[in-house]
Amino acid sequence: MTTATVRVPAKINLCLGVGPVRGDGFHPLATVYQAVDLHDEVRASRRDDESITVAMHSELDVWAEAADVPEDEDNLAVRAARALQRATGTTTGVDLAIRKAIPVAGGMAGGSADAAAALVACNEVWGLGLSKHDLEPVAASLGSDVPFLLHGGNAVGGGRGETVSPVLARGRYHWVFATAAEGLSTAAVYARFDELSTDVPAPEIADGLLTALRAGDARALGEHLSNDLTEAALSLRPELEDTLDIGREAGAYGAILSGSGPTCLFLVEDEQHGLDVAIALGSASTCADVIQSTGPVPGARLVTG
Ligand code: ATP
Repeated sequence: MTTATVRVPAKINLCLGVGPVRGDGFHPLATVYQAVDLHDEVRASRRDDESITVAMHSELDVWAEAADVPEDEDNLAVRAARALQRATGTTTGVDLAIRKAIPVAGGMAGGSADAAAALVACNEVWGLGLSKHDLEPVAASLGSDVPFLLHGGNAVGGGRGETVSPVLARGRYHWVFATAAEGLSTAAVYARFDELSTDVPAPEIADGLLTALRAGDARALGEHLSNDLTEAALSLRPELEDTLDIGREAGAYGAILSGSGPTCLFLVEDEQHGLDVAIALGSASTCADVIQSTGPVPGARLVTG
């Protein structure tokens, strides 16, 4: 196969417990990931030489940040292809084309998603025959969220987020995402977290959240959504509190920031309930766009040859 297209979802964190910064600069995390139905697509075409190129395409004019995604060696998809080349001694290259729908710097791991997709696509066009399990070490070297995005579904994340294990869960959950016009830097939010936090305990996952997931109980899950980066992100972007309040007042079961923000997540009962919340959010001056979605969905997977 000389060309492969891979679809890859965005992630959300149903809970994001953050511990004190480690010696290596990373923070220990205790999180439950869910992959959601908002996808980027990465197309890989094999080259005869060793070069790796990337071209970005976005249908989403509102996300001005899409223009800031590097189209060189710094692109996370290129880094992923390069890392796989090195790890396997591959001497062929690849042209990557990314169709972006995941908000950039939105706390939904769009860059990590493209990295996971690039690993799966390059594995295919380079004929490496590796399983997702085999790709995990390379994925983990690229970023904390990359291993989860290979697999998708619901998973518990430990370490700095890179150690993932599936979680028992039932049901399909309906979400509304409110995106912001300007992204938030993950590094800046963690730096603020360190400034604001003293005596941070080791992070834990609340039993109530896992029980709600096992039962498929959206209302109970809504009550247990949590994010330890909230205070830090809101101190950098106070107007997000208004967005969260609008969704809560419109009856969402739960409202939190996605990862390091600024995307806000609202858990709702079903599509109709989501529409009510989406309409309320649509009038908020702090929202760039409102998206209805569901989860869990599978991770990076091949869609065409
Ligand atoms: P995190 O995974 O840290 O929560 P995020 O979801 O907030 O990150 P991303 O969309 O992954 O944010 O992008 C973070 C930064 O990574 C962007 O500002 C961009 O400059 C850079 N980047 C590099 N490659 C990509 C890519 N393929 N897609 C998106 N961003 C990329």
